[in-house]
Amino acid sequence: MRMLDEKLYDIYDEVLRRNPGETEFHQAVHEVLDSLGPVIAKHPQYADAAIIQRLCEPERQIIFRVPWVDDRGAVRINRGFRVEFNSALGPYKGGLRFHASVYLGIVKFLGFEQIFKNALTGMPLGGAKGGSDFDPKGRSDGEVMRFCQSFMTELYRHLGEHTDIPAGDIGVGQREIGYLFGQYKRITNRYESGVLTGKGITWGGAQVRTEATGYGLVFFVDTMLSARGDSFEGKRVVISGSGNVALHAAEKVHQLGGTVVACSDSTGYVVEEKGIDVELLKAVKQQHRGRIADYVAARGADAHLCLEGSIWEVPCDIALPCATQNELNGSDAAALIRNRCRIVAEGANMPTTPSAVKLLTEAGVLFAPGKAANAGGVATSALEMQQNASRDSWTFEHTEARLAEIMRSIHDRCLATADEYGAPGSYVTGANIAGFTHVADAMLALGLV
Ligand code: GLU
Repeated sequence: MRMLDEKLYDIYDEVLRRNPGETEFHQAVHEVLDSLGPVIAKHPQYADAAIIQRLCEPERQIIFRVPWVDDRGAVRINRGFRVEFNSALGPYKGGLRFHASVYLGIVKFLGFEQIFKNALTGMPLGGAKGGSDFDPKGRSDGEVMRFCQSFMTELYRHLGEHTDIPAGDIGVGQREIGYLFGQYKRITNRYESGVLTGKGITWGGAQVRTEATGYGLVFFVDTMLSARGDSFEGKRVVISGSGNVALHAAEKVHQLGGTVVACSDSTGYVVEEKGIDVELLKAVKQQHRGRIADYVAARGADAHLCLEGSIWEVPCDIALPCATQNELNGSDAAALIRNRCRIVAEGANMPTTPSAVKLLTEAGVLFAPGKAANAGGVATSALEMQQNASRDSWTFEHTEARLAEIMRSIHDRCLATADEYGAPGSYVTGANIAGFTHVADAMLALGLV
């Protein structure tokens, strides 16, 4: 990691001391602090009010037991989390992740990132994240429902459309949001649509929310390309993952004339020179909850399953890491550079390790950080909340046009801020500083709370 300037180093040291063992949280904080040197120099009022120290300490952290009964009648215990990080700009907002790897450090890194991502959307949203070490993979619908009901039986008291609004993340899609919403509705006796986003269309959900993170990512990259007089036409694209973000990113890349030549899941990756069949992959993954191997079997001779090596060795013009944190490391970055990849844009949260980011940016590869490039999901959640509040529903076309406009404006704001702070072309600096100053100014205005 690069050396921070002295004042920031002290703050970072204190974060390490107060949050032992939470390595992903440390990484997320370091990434932001790394950009803030010129901001502190220009605006001493932020340091005087200890804005950075306050930002690094969540406003509230909730950890709870989630007991449930599996299909065999055995009692199971998981741990639930909600970290309400910052509410200077609006009610706490951010997804829930259900995955075996979830612990406090993961939830805090995600919640911390969410503060700046949500600020970048320009919507009135605070930052939060939650989840559980429960893994829905291989669980029956009944087990998932009982888990979600137990999870919400504790969490509901901390939520509300003006207080805290969860959504999905890894392991939490429309099925889980449905069970969570049903239990919230039952306990509170309120049909409070705005308390969760990512709902089904017939029960308060918004058009485009399912597609939004992946589509938004591709709109962001499209703006990066068009700012340089280029387009997706004829581009080879590699996308890691095959969850909600990856599938919809692939769909939009194909619509814009690019070819997705590889994608993956935790068991391996598939390479197809003529392009992945996104409809088939969606059916395998979403309807049947299958694996990449099932897709390859259904596809026949055209697709090639790789169980060894890294997906980032597949030559491409554009790489979109859309799986999970720290999935693209230094040697992956070196392979991308060798193969003349031009753009890396993060669909997942913090998928690129710090050493990979350094290698890519030093080699002149354009790099778009997740807090800017994957903000389309939460931005469309804000559009869902707007529709819920006004008891309205918009068309797919209208909502998609709003999403595209939001992604363009995040892109432009990142570049303008990077210019202003002497780092022209750096999306990382632009995103961190634009997100930070937006929240910091609101925190100053609200006083020491
Ligand atoms: N989990 C998503 C993210 O990482 C969406 C959050 C939301 O819509 O609240 O931004």
